[in-house]
Amino acid sequence: MRLLLIILVSLFSFPNIQSQTQPWQGKFEPIDNMIAPPNSYRTASGAPGKAYWQQRADYKIKATLDEKNNMLTGEETITYYNNSPDNLSYLWIQLEQNVNKKGNPDFGDAFGGVRDNMTTRQMQSLTRAIDFPAGYTIKYIKDSSGKDMQALVNNTMMKVMLKEPLKSGESMSFSLAWSYPITDRSMFLLSREGYEYFPEDNNTVYLIAHWFPRMAVYNDTEGWQNQQFQRLGEFALEFGDYDVEISVPEDHIVASTGRLQNSESVLTKTQRQRLEQAEKTFDKPVMIVTIDEAIANEKSKASKLKTWKYTAKNVRDFAFASSRKFIWDAQAVQLETNKVMAMSFYPKEGLPVWKDESTKAVKAALEVYSEATFEYPYPVAISVNTSNIGMEFPMISFNGGRPDKNGKISDRAKQGMIGTIIHEVGHNWFPMIVSSDERKWMWMDEGLNTFLHQRTVAERYPEFHSTEPKDIVPFMQGDKNILRPIMTTSDSELLTQFGANFYQKPTVGLQMLRNSIIGKELFDQAFKEYANRWKYKHPNPGDLFRTLEDATATDLDWFFRGWFFTTDNVDMELTDVKWYKVYEEDLNIEDQQKKVKIAATVEGTEQKAKDFSSGLDMIKLSETPDQAYGGFLSRLDEDELRKQVSGKNIYEVTIKNIGGLVMPVKIEWVYKDGSKETDVLPADIWRRNEYQVSKTFLKDNEVEKVNLDPNFEFADTNMTNNSFPKVEETSQFDEFKSKKSD
Ligand SMILES: [Zn+2]
Repeated sequence: MRLLLIILVSLFSFPNIQSQTQPWQGKFEPIDNMIAPPNSYRTASGAPGKAYWQQRADYKIKATLDEKNNMLTGEETITYYNNSPDNLSYLWIQLEQNVNKKGNPDFGDAFGGVRDNMTTRQMQSLTRAIDFPAGYTIKYIKDSSGKDMQALVNNTMMKVMLKEPLKSGESMSFSLAWSYPITDRSMFLLSREGYEYFPEDNNTVYLIAHWFPRMAVYNDTEGWQNQQFQRLGEFALEFGDYDVEISVPEDHIVASTGRLQNSESVLTKTQRQRLEQAEKTFDKPVMIVTIDEAIANEKSKASKLKTWKYTAKNVRDFAFASSRKFIWDAQAVQLETNKVMAMSFYPKEGLPVWKDESTKAVKAALEVYSEATFEYPYPVAISVNTSNIGMEFPMISFNGGRPDKNGKISDRAKQGMIGTIIHEVGHNWFPMIVSSDERKWMWMDEGLNTFLHQRTVAERYPEFHSTEPKDIVPFMQGDKNILRPIMTTSDSELLTQFGANFYQKPTVGLQMLRNSIIGKELFDQAFKEYANRWKYKHPNPGDLFRTLEDATATDLDWFFRGWFFTTDNVDMELTDVKWYKVYEEDLNIEDQQKKVKIAATVEGTEQKAKDFSSGLDMIKLSETPDQAYGGFLSRLDEDELRKQVSGKNIYEVTIKNIGGLVMPVKIEWVYKDGSKETDVLPADIWRRNEYQVSKTFLKDNEVEKVNLDPNFEFADTNMTNNSFPKVEETSQFDEFKSKKSD
């Protein structure tokens, strides 16, 4: 069927405008009412404001590890600086070790209840049938004159009453003494610290973290941080300087946040010489404690103690690991100005892969992240091997991944191990320096960190899988009764979903912004701007959203609104492609009435075409009437226009938004001669009609096939409706999905 149409082009009537027939959802409206308004602390541009302030806490700590009883005892002096404009009548202190304390509120069973087939470890986590005496014993809290201070513990937090308010601009010191049983990691799921026992040689690896009572955050956003530690939501912490003395059995090796101050009294002469050598070695790790030495150490079982002294400047936390099992390697990494010691500590159970890969992965993270944000500022970056977890602290991380008993590791496990090391070292930037509130917004550190971690993997380990937009599709297709928006507080997310929602989805969102919406160069500048604006500070989500817009001159409210605040997905349907050609005919004006009549008789049975097999629709162009030019004296060169379109192909594409998220539309044209071309429509095409848009293209060549989002850039959840003619065969995406479910 050929359809003869005469289109009267006029400035005042656009016949192709489609009015939206479904309710308008305001997908492009500003998100100003969804994020905190700007003020003198946080500007509308997303930067810290003129009056921005934050508190500071310095710590002097002496701790002793009692290996026989698996106890940690300590004394500490906290100097707290009240930089806020407020006078404080009390202080809040974090006591995260109380999370497993008997009698404290159990914040709900995160593991899904009793099943007919479950492990004893899962049963223990449900019932706590075997008692574990977790939690702090606080021996004293004294002010600087040695007088007892009044304190009240509320679960994982402790309120310290002040006799006189701590005035704005003033500081105070006070001291605490405490002890707690170090967590048996095998008894608690989701433990980020504790000990791991190796029965074969009767030794222990201690991972000591959130171990000392420390200041809660007080800020301009919520005053005292008041969310209890419920395991999933991690930490909100103040920056400060640390002076820490750690006493451990004298045959232990300690890995710690900070710079070692007394190597001459804790390391042998040989170890010190090897360290000096490592400081000059940039191409591969130098062994500081060799495999044979570590295996010999396993047998010594010293009971005398040795004290390791560390200082750390401008960190928000402090952690360490201790064991006589540690093998230790180190190498220097030269960044633009800072030289960093990349180091790994692992028991022999991590061999050989830890010796080959750990420090190399630390180096990769240091280099890629420093380039993408700001230079790593600390003297050391340490990766410690442990079972199961990956967990980050300033300058040190605890990372899972071990070979089997024969030293074999599957390719997948090795990729997981290296990815974990990169990820946890990467956390030095987010949230250890760009210090967002993890307890509130897990995505702010996990999402941004995973984005750079995946970039590091893609750049340094191109043979590994790294996250791409299509990886998030199975999650985005999920049941909307279960899905939550990214902008969900940390402890409200399901354990089965938080990896996808707080790590992968923000990563893919940032990848889309970088690769497909803003462009790499401008995005990278903006991301760097955000990191530099907020280093050593406490950003909120609005500060990130605002900076990414402000530094790119791109209104991204539609993107943040959809990707971060809803559970909608991307599903664009290529509903129709109409193909037209202009045929030229010398028309004299008198004949026009007649032609229109002819056209009207030919018209009638317009069908939605499934493909191009029904051939062309012909269009005839008529002269623009004078009145259409209004007051213009100049006129379009109509002959030239006819010449330009004559013989060419005009395609009118109609796209429906099924998934709800507005996105740019990438259209791939596959021509009859096999060549391809791509057009990109910005997301703004959905401003006036959020459900359906049409767009017309002029093409020299004849088109055989049209595809939307051909490279899976926008995580389209249904690729079967993305092509014209419609494809019936299995799409790449289905193949991908079935691979995933394998
Ligand atoms: Zn993480």
